[in-house]
Amino acid sequence: MKKNEVDVLLVGGGIMSATLGVLLTKLNPKLNICLVEQLTDVALESSDALNNAGTGHAGYCELNYTPELNNRTVDIQRALSINANFETSLQLWASLVALGALPAAQHFINKTPHLSFVWGHANVEFLRQRFLQLKQHHLFKRMQFSEDWAQLNTWMPLIMQDRDPQTRYAATCVSHGADVDFGALTKHMVAYLKKQANFTLLTATKVTQLKQTDQQWRVKLQNTESKKTKTLKAHFVFLGAGGASLPLLQKTGLPESKGYGGFPVSGQWLICKNPEMIKQHSTKVYGKADVDAPPMSVPHLDTRMINGKPALLFGPFAGFTTKFLKTGSNLDLAKSVKTSNLKAMIGVGKQHTDLTKYLMKEATQTHQQRMDALRTFLPNANNDDWELAQAGQRVQIIKQCEENWGKLEFGTETVCAQDGSLAALLGASPGASVSVQAMIDVVERCLTKQPGLLGEDWQARLKELIPAYGESLIDDADLLQKIRSHTHETLGLF
Ligand SMILES: Cc1cc2nc3c(=O)[nH]c(=O)nc-3n(C[C@H](O)[C@H](O)[C@H](O)COP(=O)(O)OP(=O)(O)OC[C@H]3O[C@@H](n4cnc5c(N)ncnc54)[C@H](O)[C@@H]3O)c2cc1C
Repeated sequence: MKKNEVDVLLVGGGIMSATLGVLLTKLNPKLNICLVEQLTDVALESSDALNNAGTGHAGYCELNYTPELNNRTVDIQRALSINANFETSLQLWASLVALGALPAAQHFINKTPHLSFVWGHANVEFLRQRFLQLKQHHLFKRMQFSEDWAQLNTWMPLIMQDRDPQTRYAATCVSHGADVDFGALTKHMVAYLKKQANFTLLTATKVTQLKQTDQQWRVKLQNTESKKTKTLKAHFVFLGAGGASLPLLQKTGLPESKGYGGFPVSGQWLICKNPEMIKQHSTKVYGKADVDAPPMSVPHLDTRMINGKPALLFGPFAGFTTKFLKTGSNLDLAKSVKTSNLKAMIGVGKQHTDLTKYLMKEATQTHQQRMDALRTFLPNANNDDWELAQAGQRVQIIKQCEENWGKLEFGTETVCAQDGSLAALLGASPGASVSVQAMIDVVERCLTKQPGLLGEDWQARLKELIPAYGESLIDDADLLQKIRSHTHETLGLF
């Protein structure tokens, strides 16, 4: 790093910064890039394997991406767009494996069928309708639906044990679904970046202040061990600090930051300790959220591959928290309240008292109550085979709105400075799965406005990494087939 000055400063060592770092290195190898992480290593917050569910979100199994409409049809638009965005991630990962920038795919992604499972007449009819609509689209061509007991038993034998024969059950299955160890992926990407001459990683280093002067950002860094501080100048700053992106964005003083607030939600898993049981389940099975439950608490039973070892997790149980990171402070929420977002925060507080009550109730559940929830999936689950573990934090976005003062959103949003000198990633869903598309948006919206940071041929270079860049996988069935046959082969998803 020259004279404490860099072209690009990436704040936070999670999947988002790692992805942007790799993309930028490939688009312009001459860029001087510094990644700053406050913890002692990268991928220890939301991107760590046990802090998220590791689902390669593609809209195959997540019923909240396909809401039922009043006329009993299903809105599939969000599922189509998430699926296409996940294909963008698969293209980058496949290219990096082929180039040797990432190790063999099984070190971070594994084929794991994605199932949705429901019971009761109304839910079965909803799932059938969802299947009929999705199946017509080439992105979902290989989805299967069944109400047949023998078929359901083949797909998920543990789940079908000792079920009531009078009840209607149904499931859909997409065999080429993915389980992704986003922690391993982040670490592999950062390991690749560390081999580049113009890249610097600073761990145990916290960003404490950001100020824009003379077309540059002056960013104050503090070593969390020695407490020493220094200032780094950067032409472009990316705030990929997970839940802490909001407070950092507020520190910039940018007009674009005004009005945003955050609603933190914690998570917990039940983790199976019984190796025999882990062996008997090999899919990701998503259910339907309770009527009053928020979308991030859709229950699912997941086969996972974590650090190369199979695991079985159930959850997440969402809960009430005031921290923005797992390693954050109880004061995070209070400190994020500013005069510019107070009205939006009050508006959301008034509208969502039920959600707050729900999260408080969830947070205080007993082991027995959580096991009862698991038994709706696994009727024979034994209390002694499962233990509780803490998942990561999600900070949902609060925004100003005319009607109710504020609204709560469950998606992801990139806030960009008008001059393209800074971008901040807020929100957490669909999260890591769409990290590549999210970072391409940062390149297009911000870096193209920064003269000299991207070479003239950046689009051609991006197309080498992401062959469908600039084209639509939603509209072009032949292109999808060509792309998938390559990515699925390279990543072992066939
Ligand atoms: C319970 C749960 C389940 C999830 N399941 C899925 C899933 O199945 N599939 C999926 O695709 N996504 C899922 N997600 C979302 C996904 O985990 C996140 O979207 C993604 O990991 C966010 O990555 P990030 O790089 O933005 O943040 P993080 O991984 O949180 O990294 C941010 C980093 O910034 C650092 N940092 C913060 N402040 C500072 C500072 N001031 N200075 C320096 N460093 C700082 C932090 O220490 C941290 O390491 C889930 C999330 C949760 C919580």
